Amino acid sequence: MKNILLLGATGSIGQSVLSVIDQNKDLLNLYAITLDKNISKAEEISKIFSPDYIYINCEKSFSKFNTESKNKAITINGSSDLSNLIFDDNIDIIISAVSGFAGLEATAIAAKTGKTILLANKESIVTAGEIILSSAASSGTTIIPIDSEHNAIFQCLAGEKSTNDVSKIIITASGGPFLDKKLDELKNVTKEEALKHPNWSMGSKISIDSATLVNKCLELIEAKYLFDLDEKFFELVVHPQSIIHSIVTYRDGSSICQMSNPDMRVPIAHALSNERRLNINFNEINFSGLNLSFNDFPEDRKKLENIAREVCNKGHSSGIILNAANEVAVDSFLHDEISFSQIYDVIYRTFDTTPMSNINDIESIYEKDIESRMEAKKVVKSIS
Ligand code: NDP
Ligand code: MG
Repeated sequence: MKNILLLGATGSIGQSVLSVIDQNKDLLNLYAITLDKNISKAEEISKIFSPDYIYINCEKSFSKFNTESKNKAITINGSSDLSNLIFDDNIDIIISAVSGFAGLEATAIAAKTGKTILLANKESIVTAGEIILSSAASSGTTIIPIDSEHNAIFQCLAGEKSTNDVSKIIITASGGPFLDKKLDELKNVTKEEALKHPNWSMGSKISIDSATLVNKCLELIEAKYLFDLDEKFFELVVHPQSIIHSIVTYRDGSSICQMSNPDMRVPIAHALSNERRLNINFNEINFSGLNLSFNDFPEDRKKLENIAREVCNKGHSSGIILNAANEVAVDSFLHDEISFSQIYDVIYRTFDTTPMSNINDIESIYEKDIESRMEAKKVVKSIS
């Protein structure tokens, strides 16, 4: 039996993880969960899965949590409780599924434990990839990606001695809800349209990132760190059906891909498997009716891709600036302060104006994040 700590249990990835655990109760136990505010969902989870611990980040929600519905769980709050929980010896697997930069704190601690991390929170790698990967290497922590593209690459590399024989990796992008639209047609799209992903049902931040294609750029940076390969090895390709999640081409001419219908439970189940694959209900691919297509990453979003490639090459503060600019821009769009296409303006201008600096520890990441958010907010103010 593996004991699981699920960070961000009340979110979209959290729900997919719970479904996989529910289908494999004889192998997987939900030992502890974390969340920010959604205490009614936490109560539901507690009734069904009886975790031992519930960490509630938001203090107000923590004090409001109904102790009668918590089942056997001990409820906790505050940084030291979080750190003690992550280091709890009973935990085998930590699933990092908090949304955005808020996921960094727990992921950075988890990287020091020597346990296994299943990683969905790409923002922690974009902002702190070097530090997290080096903590993981020195503590013996294993990181298995559950972002579908990265999990696909992980599966395609299985059995290989190293990445030395890889000649190219294609990361596929669905293209999001505005697949056939040029950037100048997107000025007046609404929040509702932007949040409506054609293939995946996800949290609001990543849904907007998919609509702008920022998500794919963050994933390029995530892949560079997780697989320790130069950005030149990665190509971003639009694949509207979201059936092939990534393709690895080897130097002998073989290309290996991983396929499934779009359902996050598939990569999660793979990452949670131990000696054998887990058994889950899934929607089979109908191969006889399959029509797969692939298009170049749109030319009018190349500037975004180039910024991501620059981040891969420069490291240090560049990923923090890109991530903060994007989080401020997405939040401002969701609060009707800027239009959809102004998200790009906020990213480009903040990336241009915020000075780069060397980053050697987690504290300097938090400082740079605050500075970059201030710069991004200035840009929002100047254009809204
Ligand atoms: P959601 O917005 O659906 O869920 C976010 C979760 O994080 C919620 O449980 C939320 O709690 C919790 N949370 C937010 N802030 C904190 C905090 N400070 N401390 C503890 N918990 C916190 O996000 P998604 O599930 O869509 O995405 C999660 C991560 O996975 C993101 O990094 C995303 O990029 C990545 N990912 C998501 C995919 C998807 O299909 N959704 C696919 C691939 C990657 P509360 O509910 O209480 O607010
Ligand atoms: Mg993805």
